[in-house]
Amino acid sequence: MTDELSSPTTLRVAVAGAGLGGLCLAQGLRQAGIDAGVYERDPAITARFQGYRLVLDPAGLAALRGCLPHRWHALLDAIVGDAYGERLVLDPQLNKIGELGPGRSGTVVDRHVLRHLLLTGLTVRTGAALTGYALLDDGRVEARFAHHDPVVADLLVGADGVGSAVRAVLSPRTTPTDTGVRFVIGRTPLTGQFAGLTRAFGSKIAGNGVSLLLGAMRFRTPPKQAAEELAPEVTLPDVGDYVRWAMILPPGGSAGGMSPQEAVLSRIEGWHPDLRALVEQSDPDNSTLLSIRVVEPRERWAPGPVTLLGDAVHATSPTGGNGANTALRDADLLRRCLTEGRENLVDAVGGYERQMFEYGAEAVRHSLGALPAFVPQPAG
Ligand SMILES: Cc1cc2nc3c(=O)[nH]c(=O)nc-3n(C[C@H](O)[C@H](O)[C@H](O)COP(=O)(O)OP(=O)(O)OC[C@H]3O[C@@H](n4cnc5c(N)ncnc54)[C@H](O)[C@@H]3O)c2cc1C
Repeated sequence: MTDELSSPTTLRVAVAGAGLGGLCLAQGLRQAGIDAGVYERDPAITARFQGYRLVLDPAGLAALRGCLPHRWHALLDAIVGDAYGERLVLDPQLNKIGELGPGRSGTVVDRHVLRHLLLTGLTVRTGAALTGYALLDDGRVEARFAHHDPVVADLLVGADGVGSAVRAVLSPRTTPTDTGVRFVIGRTPLTGQFAGLTRAFGSKIAGNGVSLLLGAMRFRTPPKQAAEELAPEVTLPDVGDYVRWAMILPPGGSAGGMSPQEAVLSRIEGWHPDLRALVEQSDPDNSTLLSIRVVEPRERWAPGPVTLLGDAVHATSPTGGNGANTALRDADLLRRCLTEGRENLVDAVGGYERQMFEYGAEAVRHSLGALPAFVPQPAG
C-alpha cells in the first residue's frame, strides 16, 4: 500500500457490488473527485427482482444525502414517502389481537428507484463477478473477475453482499449463518381497493402458522416525473404506488414447487378477501422466495488495501429494518475517512473499520433480537 494517501483525483478505488452500499460509496467518492469503478456480478442492473421498499431512519437518510450531490437532494425528497405503522398483531380477518411494539415512523424508499438514482454518472461494469484478489508488492491490490480483465487499485471495497467473494479471501472464517427462516415477498399496485388495509401497514397478520406483513410505498411525486422536473440528467423508472407484502414462513418452510404467489395463497385460505386479492393481483415479476441469512462481524484483520462494507460484513435480518441503513452509514463513513484529513490509506481504512465493526455488530444483534416476534410457530 502506498504510504501517503494519494490525492483524491489519483486514488484508485474498485468497488465490488452495485448494491446500495457500493453505489452510495461510489457516488460519495465521485463528489470528492475520485472515480471509483464499480464491478457488478449481475449481467444487467435489472437482471433480477430487487424492487422492494426500504424504511430509512434519519441516520441512514443523512448518510445517503451525504454521498449525493446537493443538486439531487430535492429529487431525493420528492421520490421518498412517509411511513407510519401502528405495529399491531392482527388476525386473518384484520381484528386486533395484540401489539408488536410502539408505532414506527420513517422514510420509505423504493430500492429499485434508489439504485437508479445512485447509478447516475457512475462507471459500472455489469457481468463482472469478482472471483478473488492478490496483494501486490507495491501495496496496491489486483482484483480478479470472471469475464473481465483484472483491475489494479489502491483500495478494493467488497460491497458484494451476504455471499461476499471479497470476504471469502479477507476473512474466510466469517461466514453467513442461515436462520432457517424463509419468506416470500411481493408487491401489488396500491389501488383504492386496498386503501382499507391501512391498519395492516406495519402490523403483523398472524394465522395458520405463517405471518403476513404489509407496507405501503406512496411516492410523494412519481419518480419518473420528479426526475424530469427536478434533475433532467437523472432517469428514474416509471413506478406507481404499491403495497409491499411479505409472508414469513416457519423454519423449514418452502414454496414446494409453487410460484411465490401460489405458495402464499395456499396458506391464506379463508383470510380477509382484501388480503387474498392483494396477493392475487401482485406483479409476478416482482415476487420471490428469499432466505434470511446473517453475517456477524467477529474477526478483525489488520487494515490494508482491502475492506468490506454493508451486508458483506454485517448482514442483518430484514425484520430488523436496518441493513440498508447500516450499509449507507458505512458508505458515508468510508467516504469521509478517505477524503477528510487522513494522512495515509491504512489510517483511513483503519479508522473506518474501527467504527464500522462496532455499530455493524450491534446492527446484526438488533435484527436477530427482532426476528422471533415475526417468526410464526408451525401450525399445530
Ligand atoms: C425484503 C427485504 C427488505 C428489506 N428492508 C429493509 C429496510 O426496510 N431497511 C433496511 O435498512 N434494510 C432492509 N433490508 C436490507 C437491505 O436491503 C440490505 O441490507 C442492503 O441492500 C445491503 O446493501 P449492500 O450494498 O451491502 O448489499 P446488496 O444490496 O445485497 O448488494 C450487493 C451487490 O453485490 C453484487 N455481487 C455479489 N457477489 C458479487 C461478486 N462476486 N462480484 C461482484 N458483485 C457481486 C450483488 O449482485 C449485488 O448487486 C431489506 C432486505 C430485504 C431482502
